[in-house]
Amino acid sequence: MKRKTAFIHSNDYLNYNFNDDHPFNQKRIAMTIDLLRMMNLLEDSDLVAPRMAEDEELALIHDRQYIEVVKEAGHAEQTPALAASFGIGTEDCPAFVNMHEATALAVGGTLRAAELVMAGEYQHAVNLAGGLHHGFRGRASGFCIYNDCSVAIAYLRQKYDARVLYIDTDAHHGDGVQWAFYDDPNVLTLSFHETGKYLFPGTGNITERGDGQGYGFSVNVPLDAFTEDDSWLEAYYAVLPTVARGFKPDIIVTQNGCDAHTFDPLTHLSTTMRIYQEVPRLARDLADELCDGRLIATGGGGYDIWRVVPRAWSLLWAELSGQDVPQDTRIPQTWIDKYQAESPVQLAPTMFDPEGIFPDIPRRPEITTKNKNTVEKALLYCPKG
Ligand SMILES: [Zn+2]
Repeated sequence: MKRKTAFIHSNDYLNYNFNDDHPFNQKRIAMTIDLLRMMNLLEDSDLVAPRMAEDEELALIHDRQYIEVVKEAGHAEQTPALAASFGIGTEDCPAFVNMHEATALAVGGTLRAAELVMAGEYQHAVNLAGGLHHGFRGRASGFCIYNDCSVAIAYLRQKYDARVLYIDTDAHHGDGVQWAFYDDPNVLTLSFHETGKYLFPGTGNITERGDGQGYGFSVNVPLDAFTEDDSWLEAYYAVLPTVARGFKPDIIVTQNGCDAHTFDPLTHLSTTMRIYQEVPRLARDLADELCDGRLIATGGGGYDIWRVVPRAWSLLWAELSGQDVPQDTRIPQTWIDKYQAESPVQLAPTMFDPEGIFPDIPRRPEITTKNKNTVEKALLYCPKG
C-alpha cells in the first residue's frame, strides 16, 4: 500500500554542527519533532531512517578532490591549509569533527526521500536536514558543505531520467542548485528570494535564465527587502503554477528555508507564519496535479530557531501529510515549558502570527509595485502553461 508521507530523520542529524556560536543550529529539527509530537501531528510510524550518501553519489555533483578535503578536514585536529581554497575553515563554514559523515548523512536523507517517492512507496517525503542549497561542485559556501538538493536532482536524472522542478523559497538565492543545472533543460530551478543587493550570496538576478539548451529553465524572483506576506504570496502564486504547468515535471523537489520570516536575524524580508502554510500547500497541489503527487521537501535556512523554525517546519509537515492546522491553533504549553528557559526570546503562543503584531512597513506600496514588475520580467522566457 502506498503510504502518504515519510519523515526522514536520524538523531545523528544533530552532528551537523559547526560550533556552539554558529547560527546554523540543527537543534531546530529536534524542536520541530517535539512540537509535532506534542500536537499529535507526527507518529513513530511516519519516521524513516536516512542512509549515508556514497562517495559515488556525492561525485555526481562534487569534485573528488573536494570530497577528500572535506573528509580530511573532519578528521584532522587542525584544518588543513588546503581546505581554505575549498571554502572550509571560513567563518561561515568552519571545519568540524566528522563533517564528511554528518553531511553525507544529510545528503543520504534526501536520496532516501527520492528513492521512496520514485518507487511509489510514499507520495511525499520530507528531509529537514537537507536543503543545503549553497554547496558548490568544489567549494563549501553559506553553511553548506555538500549540496543534497543538487546531488538528489542529479541522482533523479541519472537513475530515473526524471524531469525535476526545483522550488526554493529560502530568503537566500538557491545558487548552488541553479549553477549545477544551469544548462540542463530537464531541471527547472525556480528561486524566490530577497534581492541579492544587500544579501548573501548576491546572485539570483532575473537575468540569470540559464545557458544554451537550458535557457529559460532557471527562473529567479528576487523580491525587495521588507516584502510582506501579501506581496510575497502574490509573486509565488503568479509564477509557480504557470512555470510548473509549462514545464510538466515528473517530480518536484522543494527547499524550505524559513528565513524570510520577519523575525529572522540574517535577512530583511518581512513575512509571517502565513506563508509557511501556503508554500507547501501549493507545491503539494501542483505535485498532485502534474506528477502523481511525487514531491520531496528539504529544510534549509532558518536562524530564529525559537520562534520561527519549529512552527514553520511543523506547518510544512502538516500540509504534506494532509493534516490541517487551523488559524487559531495554540502551541502546547508542554512545548513552551520545555524550551522557554533556554530561549533568549519569548516563545510564540500560537502557530500563526496574529495580525497587527509587526510594525507597518513604510514603503509597502512601492515594494508591492516593484515586486509585480519583477514577476512580469521573471516570466518572460520560461516555460508557461
Ligand atoms: Zn537562507
